[in-house]
Amino acid sequence: RRAEALARAGTLCHSADGVRIEIFANLGHRDEAAPAVARGAEGCGLLRTEFLFLERAAAPDEAEQSAEYQAIADALGERPLIVRLLDIGGDKPAPYLPIAPEENPALGLRGIRVGLARPALLDTQLRAILAVRPAGRCHIMVPMVAGLEELRAVRARVAALAAEAGLAAPFRLGIMVETPAAAMLADRFAAEADFLSIGTNDLTQYALAMDRGNAAVAGGVDGLHPAVLRLIAETCRGGARHGRWTGVCGGLASDPLAVPILLGLGVTELSAAPAMVPDIKALVTRLTLADCRAHAEAALACATAAEVRALAARFAEEMP
Ligand code: PEP
Ligand code: MG
Repeated sequence: RRAEALARAGTLCHSADGVRIEIFANLGHRDEAAPAVARGAEGCGLLRTEFLFLERAAAPDEAEQSAEYQAIADALGERPLIVRLLDIGGDKPAPYLPIAPEENPALGLRGIRVGLARPALLDTQLRAILAVRPAGRCHIMVPMVAGLEELRAVRARVAALAAEAGLAAPFRLGIMVETPAAAMLADRFAAEADFLSIGTNDLTQYALAMDRGNAAVAGGVDGLHPAVLRLIAETCRGGARHGRWTGVCGGLASDPLAVPILLGLGVTELSAAPAMVPDIKALVTRLTLADCRAHAEAALACATAAEVRALAARFAEEMP
C-alpha cells in the first residue's frame, strides 16, 4: 500500500505542491519511539512525560528522568524531539503531589501551573531535559499556558539552569496552545516562544466549555467546531507574524477529515498518534495548499461542527 511504502521509505513529507509539512508522532512511553520511526514518523511532536510520574509513590529523580529522555532521543536518531513539561493536576493525581480537592480540576492547578507552584519539581525536570546529549537536543514545550508570565517564568528557569550546567547551546522553548487565551494572544506569545503547538483536545474543551471526559456532553466535543477553527486560524496568524511554526499535537492531527483544513489554516507540523502516521503522511502528499486554503475558508464560514464535517466529507470524496 502507498501509506506503507511511504513509511518504509522514510521520506520527509511534502504536500502535492511541494510545501514541507512535518509529520511527527505523539509518544507516551520510551517503547513507542522506535515503532513510530518505523511507521515513518519524522520526529516526536509531543512526548507526554506523565508516564514517568504517575502510579508511583515518589517522583522520578533527575537521573531517572534524564536516562528516559536520552533513550527516547537515541531511538529517534537525529529527528526532532519535543518534550512536554509535566502535565498533571487535579484530574491526573499523584500521591507525592497532594493537590487540595478542587471543585473544577480542569480550571485549577494543572499543567505548568503545578510546576510553577512546585519549583523543585519543575527544576528537576528541566535539569533532566538539559542533561540529554548532544546539548540542545530536546525542544521544551510548556502545557496549559494562559499567560505570558508563565512562559517568561519557565524561560528564566531554563536560562538559569543552563548557565548553572555550563551549557551555551540554545534551547528551543515553545508553548502548547490549549486555552482560548493563548490562541487569542498567539501573536504576543510568538514574539517570545520558538514555536506554537495546538492541543486541540483541551482547546476544544475550553472553547466549548464542555468537559472532554464527560459522556453526557461527549457528542458535542468536536475540534471541527467553527469556533475552534477560528482560534486555530488566529494561532497560525500569530505564529506567522513572528516567523514561528504552528503545529497541532491534539486529536485533530490524527483526523483525516481535519488535516486539509488545518493545513489550509497555516499549520505546518502535525503530531499524530503513531498508528495514524502512515495514513496522515499519505494524505498530505495528495493535498495542494491552494485547495486546502480555499477549503479552510469555507470551513471558517460554517455555522456548526456538523456543517464543517459535511463539508470535509465532500472534500475527501472529491479528492483526486
Ligand atoms: C491536547 O490537549 O490536545 C493535548 C495534546 O494534550 P493532552 O491530550 O495530553 O491533554
Ligand atoms: Mg492537553
